[in-house]
Amino acid sequence: MIFDLHSHSTASDGVLSPQDLVIRAAQQGVDVLALTDHDEMRGLDEAARAADGLAIELVTGVEISVSWAGRTVHVVGLKVDPASPALVDGLAVNRSGRRERALRMAASLAAVGIPGAMEGALRLAENEELISRTHFARFLVGKGYVKDVKTVFKKFLVRGKPGYVSHQWAGLAEAVAWIRLAGGMAVLAHPGRYDMGKEKQSLLMAEFKDVGGVGLEVVTGSHTREQVPIYAAHAERFGFFASVGSDFHSPGEGGRELGRLMPLPDNCRPIWEAW
Ligand code: AMP
Ligand code: MN
Ligand code: MN
Ligand code: MN
Repeated sequence: MIFDLHSHSTASDGVLSPQDLVIRAAQQGVDVLALTDHDEMRGLDEAARAADGLAIELVTGVEISVSWAGRTVHVVGLKVDPASPALVDGLAVNRSGRRERALRMAASLAAVGIPGAMEGALRLAENEELISRTHFARFLVGKGYVKDVKTVFKKFLVRGKPGYVSHQWAGLAEAVAWIRLAGGMAVLAHPGRYDMGKEKQSLLMAEFKDVGGVGLEVVTGSHTREQVPIYAAHAERFGFFASVGSDFHSPGEGGRELGRLMPLPDNCRPIWEAW
């Protein structure tokens, strides 16, 4: 069985519609796919309808942006009820700050001689409530300022670089509570990607566990082969179920393809065993 429990559609910063994403996942041999758009669940209905006619199971999901200790971390909710008022309302609050944040990002880019970024990013965002850094990155590539999206996140849009602005997202306990109230399981996304020392990382995982988090992404498109056993050991130490997801966004931007993932190490308890 191939599980891919982290992916994006045009409801956030992916480039495929929810339907096309599900079709592509099925073509890639994925048996169980979670759609986990950033701070948004509007793609889930379309994805579920697409999965109905195919040999693939759709898991409802979301990826919540969280501010923790002055940093941004991501919490994936799996098996959430998309009609849960607590989750729906919480995500709406998280989304509501994005437009104003985007305006500040555009102003920061304008200050280094890059005009029109707000309009440019907005044109690339199918969901105008969900303007993300990825849309700005695609704008910068499209205009020829940077050669590809990966390079954008080295020269722009990250702390200390043009286009970066700080922003306040949901709190960690808050985001986990929304997921739990929606009947879902909270998973700490791509732990190896956060720019923090080992001690801080342990604090994050301990606090996540404390507030009701149950899973850790061990295999993700963001982890190297070497990071997988490291996070498998963390999952074992903290008693987290292990999750697996490509974090697929687009066929052509250099990220991981749907379903192309390493197997979980033997010391892991796969999160689907808890379903
Ligand atoms: P936002 O939620 O608006 O801050 O945008 C975050 C998104 O930017 C992530 O979900 C990724 O899709 C993208 N992103 C962040 N860092 C990188 C990177 N180094 N390479 C490619 N995409 C990135
Ligand atoms: Mn993204
Ligand atoms: Mn993420
Ligand atoms: Mn993601």
